[in-house]
Amino acid sequence: MQAVLMDLKKRYEPLFEQIRVVDFAEKVTYTLNHQNKLEWRPCSHLCRLKENCFCSKVLQENRKLARLEFSEGKSYIIYGFPIRQGNRHLVVELTDQIDGSSIFENSEAQENRDITAMIEGMNQMIITDEMTGLFNRRYITQKLSFDLVNSFYQKSTMAVIMADIDKFKSVNDLYGHDVGDQVLINFSSLLKSTIRSSSDWVARYGGEEFLIVMKHLNRNNVEEIIHHIKGQIELTHFGPTSPEIKLTCSFGVVVCDGHTGHYEKLIRIADQCLLQAKNEGRNKAIIKYLE
Ligand code: GH3
Ligand code: MG
Ligand code: MG
Repeated sequence: MQAVLMDLKKRYEPLFEQIRVVDFAEKVTYTLNHQNKLEWRPCSHLCRLKENCFCSKVLQENRKLARLEFSEGKSYIIYGFPIRQGNRHLVVELTDQIDGSSIFENSEAQENRDITAMIEGMNQMIITDEMTGLFNRRYITQKLSFDLVNSFYQKSTMAVIMADIDKFKSVNDLYGHDVGDQVLINFSSLLKSTIRSSSDWVARYGGEEFLIVMKHLNRNNVEEIIHHIKGQIELTHFGPTSPEIKLTCSFGVVVCDGHTGHYEKLIRIADQCLLQAKNEGRNKAIIKYLE
């Protein structure tokens, strides 16, 4: 693999910022570091659109494909083409940053920027819950497995939290569906304000149920963090109405040091904890610590 990468480096390094080889079957990405030493990582950190994996398309169609990617405010173009090494099916990915000075400014430049902005907007839209502005279910499926693998390799503790508003049906019954919607929007804002925006995220799992993911935690602090969120909820007036609309919420929490298994397993455990919290009278958190 090192020889393959050295050969690619000789040919493409002047033109591209990053050269990597993906072993699709093994789900591993290979690169050379500055000393030309071979480095590898599981490719889950690249594959944000699992159901639309770029490498699988390149292999399926057996030809060169290009895709645009947006990461941390920058735009990249990535070319992928298939190569064979014995019976291994590999994909070479050549990455180049295309914004800023590397774009040749001509009459098409503005059009390129418009297309870039449009794709960026669409990317954002497909991972956003329209009503609350939180991330949606699609984002959960993409991001949670990524975060779990990442935290496993970083040996860092994370929490997956299912939060379900208590007796929400009575809000709709008492005030109507429109007020119910506004209450959900306000509740979402509160949840968002209680997490660290740099590392943690919150998504609408469905209806009045939310998934919060917190990373880089200390196991000893989890209880306190949940207690803080619970307290903030109890203090807040959620309605556009008078008298005040107060809510409580139940939580099912799984704390683990990452995971290489399927993310759905953790969601199932969080769900079981949530159910227990509901059965034990609501407005409480059941926390399960996995080894
Ligand atoms: P529990 O404490 O057991 O969770 O009781 P609950 O009433 O919250 O739970 P249940 O699942 O019985 O009802 C959930 C309610 O949430 C019913 C549904 O009408 C309401 N709901 C779900 N999504 C929305 C929404 O987008 N807008 C509004 N207004 N209500 C919603
Ligand atoms: Mg509920
Ligand atoms: Mg519910």
